[in-house]
Amino acid sequence: MNKNIAVIRGDGIGPEIVEQALRVLEKTAEKFGHTFSFTDVDMGGCAIDKWGNPLPEAELQKCLESDSVLLGAVGGEKWNNVAGDMRPEKGLLRLRAGMGVYSNNRPAKIWKQLAEASPLKKEIVEKGIDFIIVRELIGGIYFGEHKTAGNVATDILQYSEEEIERIGRIGFETARKRNKKLCSVEKSNVLDSSRLWKKVMHSLAEEYPDVELSDMLVDNCAMQIVKNPAQFDVIVTENMFGDILSDEASMITGSIGMIPSSSLGATSCGLYEPIHGSAPDIAGMDVANPIGTILSVAMMLRFSFDMPNEADSIENAVSAVLDDGFRTADIMSDGCKKVGCSEMGNLIISRM
Ligand code: NAD
Repeated sequence: MNKNIAVIRGDGIGPEIVEQALRVLEKTAEKFGHTFSFTDVDMGGCAIDKWGNPLPEAELQKCLESDSVLLGAVGGEKWNNVAGDMRPEKGLLRLRAGMGVYSNNRPAKIWKQLAEASPLKKEIVEKGIDFIIVRELIGGIYFGEHKTAGNVATDILQYSEEEIERIGRIGFETARKRNKKLCSVEKSNVLDSSRLWKKVMHSLAEEYPDVELSDMLVDNCAMQIVKNPAQFDVIVTENMFGDILSDEASMITGSIGMIPSSSLGATSCGLYEPIHGSAPDIAGMDVANPIGTILSVAMMLRFSFDMPNEADSIENAVSAVLDDGFRTADIMSDGCKKVGCSEMGNLIISRM
């Protein structure tokens, strides 16, 4: 199969981790007889430096014309003082909105080899952590009106039934492919938007009788994720709640450097990225963990290109390298062998 992938290296550690993921894609192409071509796209701080804009229209267009987009990370201190509309993160919000990717899916799964890296008690980890957070990505408070008038600032949180229904369906469909348990998370004791959310989820539930739907308030969910994460299969929630809960969920699995994500809309063209940021504190040192980006590429093969065997080959290689005791600094523990970013890439490729 021929696929054209738009590649956004971005800022900080972005170029280093993306480089390893591209090498893994090249190895996959060689092993399975595919052709992947890569189109470079400027986004984030580097695009501000080059074009004076975090995502020029022509760069967005390259993404829209691709079969899928791979992103490292954007942002950094250097661009902290640029005007709000021109910040690196604005490029990312514009990319998500431009691609219409309304569903962000983040697995929170503990690798047995990294159980000790979890900050949770051993007896909680032993019960297993394996759930997915489906987060609405292009609505809610991040996309509502933002306004500052004098000493008062306002951000609007708004959802329509249609927006809730389309993300709700992804939640139900995802649960259907897993253990058929969907937990809808909101704040319906306070917010009108959450009461609408809950109503839409329950009317959708009639179409998915095989999926068990439960409701949970977001503050309770934040607590349950650390108290008893084994209870969750799929969580579906709105944009800001999902942003916060998915960072919490990533941390209990050991390291933010391990977690991939996919963002999908109505077409198969998706956006794939690790969940962490550009980590300026370790940029250029060849110590970043590339596994979250490499697993994002595996998700791309599985969900956008319908290549499950290719995805398995990457995930199995990652597992084998962890079995062999190799670790980047963020997941290092006693008795393991410490390796850098490019060496981790080499090891995974050699295991493929
Ligand atoms: P961060 O995720 O970049 O870093 C947090 C901590 O985790 C740091 O100590 C970092 O060294 C470590 N870390 C992150 N990824 C790692 C990896 N792959 N391997 C090893 N360690 C890793 O978050 P931050 O420091 O809050 O943000 C830095 C910049 O990234 C900011 O400009 C922020 O806006 C941006 N950011 C971008 C994205 C994105 O591009 N999707 C997401 C979050 C933050």
